[in-house]
Amino acid sequence: MNTTRRNFLAITGLAAAGLSLGNKVTGSSVYRKKTSEGKIKLFFEPYNLALKHVFTIAGSSRTSTPVMLTRIEYGGITGYGEASMPPYLGESQETASKFLSQVDLSKFPDPFLMEDILDYVDQIAAGNRAAKAAVDIALHDLVGKLMGQPWHRLWGLNPLLTPNTTFTIGIDTPEVVIQKVKEAGGFKILKVKLGRENDREMIKTIRSVTNVPLAADVNQGWKEKEKALEMIFWLKEMGIVMIEQPLPKEMIDDMAWLTARSPIPIFGDESVQRLPDVYKAAGVYHGINIKLMKCTGMREAFVMAKTAKSLGMKVMIGCMTETSCAVSAAAQLSPLAEFADLDGNLLISNDLYTGMQVKDGKITLNDLPGIGIQKI
Ligand code: MG
Repeated sequence: MNTTRRNFLAITGLAAAGLSLGNKVTGSSVYRKKTSEGKIKLFFEPYNLALKHVFTIAGSSRTSTPVMLTRIEYGGITGYGEASMPPYLGESQETASKFLSQVDLSKFPDPFLMEDILDYVDQIAAGNRAAKAAVDIALHDLVGKLMGQPWHRLWGLNPLLTPNTTFTIGIDTPEVVIQKVKEAGGFKILKVKLGRENDREMIKTIRSVTNVPLAADVNQGWKEKEKALEMIFWLKEMGIVMIEQPLPKEMIDDMAWLTARSPIPIFGDESVQRLPDVYKAAGVYHGINIKLMKCTGMREAFVMAKTAKSLGMKVMIGCMTETSCAVSAAAQLSPLAEFADLDGNLLISNDLYTGMQVKDGKITLNDLPGIGIQKI
């Protein structure tokens, strides 16, 4: 009975704030009345993330990441979003700006029509996946705030089931690697970027200072399946617990061969962008790495996670270098994931939000509505 009373108070609280859920979903006259709250408006502005360390993966090095910040306003409430655009993925502040200036949300009566709105955004132009995610995230933040609940609750996910997040140790000299590993002492699992000549040296260097489980991301850096399998058996002996994209994404048959023999679960990352890729990954990988910037945002990411599980695959949730905005949006999904790589906000020195926290290595969700962030 106490629970009932608390629910009643929660609902009256929402009503007092002019946000009654009942009015949103009942009779059409109420529905029309509510639309007088105002049109949905999208705003965007470029921002550059400053990286704490030079970021090196198998293909490139860089010191900053361009992003586009978005916000959607409706009825006096603001939802925040973000597009992160590492240069090697082909989007830029220019392409995002061009795409977002074509998005007209004022044609929709209210933001609860998420399927209509996001279908419309998706069909404006092909590609532009990060720019689309920037709209999707802001819309989710807005709708969650209007409903007074964080998305992990709206999805029915248990916040206690969040995984530990990996923290990435980039490719570097042994001295720098040792220093970075020591700085990452609070993490329960580290991610190592492999795919170069010095892979074994890199692992041995890390193992000289820590015994925590390691995730390995090869970023398509190995080219031969037999050598890859030999390396994977060695990595298992060294305490590596999962491996990401060992071979180029085009080598599908070789990848399936490797997965069938690997003693460590193998996840597809570069090979898995959007929902149709999940079906193609079945039988080729043990799991998929879902990132909001690859898949156009939270709506598709949730369906991808559920689809992967239905096909018997594991789920990993990852990110680019991002502010706490996009990272916290991804974290809402993390109770569905066996592995998480949500350290993008920890790699930058000019974050604009607080949100998901990493506590004792584990992703920790708060109770704030929407994607769970506040502006700093
Ligand atoms: Mg990866």
